Amino acid sequence: MPNIENGGGDQPQANQQRVLICGAGIAGLTLAWWLDRDGWDVTLIEKAAGLREEGYMIDFLGSGYDVAKRMGILPRLKEVEYPIAEIIDVDSNGNTVSTIDYELFRRLKDGELLSLMRGDLERVLYESLSDDVEIRYGLTVDEVGQNGREVTVDLTDGTKEQVDLLVGADGIHSRVRELTFGEEEKYRRYLGYQTAAYIFEDDAFRRKLDGGFRDITVENRTAGFYPIRDGKVATWFAHDAPDEKLPAAPCDELRRTFGDIGWIVPDALDHCSDGDSIYYDQVAQIEMDHWSRGRVTLVGDACYAVSLLAGQGASMAMGGAYVLARKLREASVIEEGLAEYEAKMKPEIEKKQAYGRRTASFLIPPTKWHVKMRDAVLNLSQLPGLYWLLRPVVAGTDSVISTK
Ligand SMILES: Cc1cc2nc3c(=O)[nH]c(=O)nc-3n(C[C@H](O)[C@H](O)[C@H](O)COP(=O)(O)OP(=O)(O)OC[C@H]3O[C@@H](n4cnc5c(N)ncnc54)[C@H](O)[C@@H]3O)c2cc1C
Repeated sequence: MPNIENGGGDQPQANQQRVLICGAGIAGLTLAWWLDRDGWDVTLIEKAAGLREEGYMIDFLGSGYDVAKRMGILPRLKEVEYPIAEIIDVDSNGNTVSTIDYELFRRLKDGELLSLMRGDLERVLYESLSDDVEIRYGLTVDEVGQNGREVTVDLTDGTKEQVDLLVGADGIHSRVRELTFGEEEKYRRYLGYQTAAYIFEDDAFRRKLDGGFRDITVENRTAGFYPIRDGKVATWFAHDAPDEKLPAAPCDELRRTFGDIGWIVPDALDHCSDGDSIYYDQVAQIEMDHWSRGRVTLVGDACYAVSLLAGQGASMAMGGAYVLARKLREASVIEEGLAEYEAKMKPEIEKKQAYGRRTASFLIPPTKWHVKMRDAVLNLSQLPGLYWLLRPVVAGTDSVISTK
């Protein structure tokens, strides 16, 4: 297991410096927790009006799991996890074609794997923050200026902040990155797919899932459905899309792409409604030569999105936030901490991104043959002694920090 942190040294330290974090998502909330603990004066600003439940079920493992352990929030995360035993893949008539044994995955990760809705993770991180952290929702950054050791930030409500450090934790379409490093196109590696997730209520549909996680995968398309708390159903879709432009009406695009796939998919598509409640985005990675300029830095998807194909966006957001806070704590000046953070994280991120690209044809098989191979591997892996067939799938999910 790569080990870029040796544990210890997590003791809080006195610090009077001011940090503004843009983006109260997974990376931003985690960073706020650690910097607050180190005595920074922390303000978070977030474009959304408040916490959201949108998003899909994430595999929470590796770095994210280790950081959560260090923050003491694992018990709370275990309360909100979904104890998935298996994911059943069906055909267009609803007949089982393969089974993903989640217990097997959990064993391969020594039990350190949680299935969480992204919104639940965001909420638990939010609730773990102390009252000293100020969070201002419905706000973003308009202008950024640097003058020596001071960063001046104009906010969209007309106010101005002067801070020692500005962090862009504002996701794959980062505004801080755009203002500091230039337009997104320079850094985005589009992987040729688009993805969507939304949640709806429908008792009859829920019953058809028979209490479990169900997936349907045909060439170039995959869709999954699972019952979640409060009588709701969560969906996720991914499909190939050679043109990276996002559709103006995501639900129409989903109906066009998935409408003929059969099984209960058309019923799920009937519940799709455009607006804030659907997550729809490109499957892409962000690759940058450097993550900091002066006293402006980036963390999480903003500078190193690994994509859903790597299955570790949230875990790496937490891992990066932890490493950034730690390097700032150990450094004598901010610039040195930022350089150390990048030097430690970047090689690990490059491995995760390469892993994500390699797994693409397993998750979204390009041909009927790839679909058949995938089903065969999943079914064979359940036979006694053949669990190692899944090793390549979990091989790239190791933690970049160590709890030892
Ligand atoms: C609502 C939501 C649902 C998601 N669902 C999925 C999904 O289904 N599948 C998937 O693969 N990935 C999904 N993601 C992305 C995934 O959660 C991230 O890859 C992962 O959590 C990385 O964490 P991050 O903190 O770097 O970025 P994110 O979790 O994306 O957090 C970034 C935060 O910054 C905020 N923000 C964005 N722009 C600005 C701005 N200009 N000013 C201030 N704040 C800003 C966002 O609202 C968000 O809260 C979702 C992200 C969000 C925000």
